[in-house]
Amino acid sequence: MPFDHTNNRTLRILHAAAAGGYAINAQSCYDAQSVIALVRAAEASRSPALCQLFPVTMAQFGKPFVQFCLDTCHAASVPIAVHLDHAASDEDITRALDWAEQGTALDSIMIDCSHFDTDEENINMAKPYVERANRLGLAVEVELGRLAGGEAGVRVIDEGMLTKPDKAERFLTELGAQMLAPSIGNIHGRYINPPAFHLDLLEKLQSTVGPGTSSNAYLVLHGTDDLPDSLFTDCIKRGAYKINVNSWARDPQVEYWAKHLSGGALPEVYEGGMVEFEKVCKRFFDLFGSAGKA
Ligand SMILES: [Zn+2]
Repeated sequence: MPFDHTNNRTLRILHAAAAGGYAINAQSCYDAQSVIALVRAAEASRSPALCQLFPVTMAQFGKPFVQFCLDTCHAASVPIAVHLDHAASDEDITRALDWAEQGTALDSIMIDCSHFDTDEENINMAKPYVERANRLGLAVEVELGRLAGGEAGVRVIDEGMLTKPDKAERFLTELGAQMLAPSIGNIHGRYINPPAFHLDLLEKLQSTVGPGTSSNAYLVLHGTDDLPDSLFTDCIKRGAYKINVNSWARDPQVEYWAKHLSGGALPEVYEGGMVEFEKVCKRFFDLFGSAGKA
């Protein structure tokens, strides 16, 4: 049975973005402070948003914290969904799906089996998880091609790592996932050389597997540290409707805390850092065209 897009908060937000030609800031949040700062920024900008958690944060703070994120985001006066980014191990994926079964269900999850050597292995490993997630009502993002980067990752992309449109179509048909993170020259972490994106490839992927095609998938842009504003807008024009943002907002918040923690009252120091986080979220809502759309 095909997944019911209309019942899923993440997909409803992305559907509206695709129809309106703007992108959603999928903002990494590491703690209650960043979740609340994201919600405040989204409400102030009248923008939809996605709150993204990493598996490490779920493991660190537990199910009650995930429930807090869901409650806080779902109670906002603008549409905000909660997504799990890069769940790559059986432990991380199963934790999220078990908790969903127990009533603490994220809106969507990235099931990342892209570390396997072949696409066949990627499909075989991911498929049971994708099916279980969809049964539980979670929309699923998958990755095809190999995104370079990460802690000790490589810094250059060779052609073989790029996502091929025909493969993407087959991959999505076999997996039945709703979002695809392609490799188009994007890198996780710092870009040593200026980013060289294959925008023609993004455009081709959008016309092959994007909304309205038989795959009907949303393309997700990972690896956005250091990107110039013009490259963000170039990607949005070509169909990247979910854009992951991490260190842009995290770093100014943490820098503020590091600088002021020894001197100030703790709630005030927290507040100052949250204001820094909000500023960055608002900048991206404006840049992505989502401000005023909720
Ligand atoms: Zn990523």
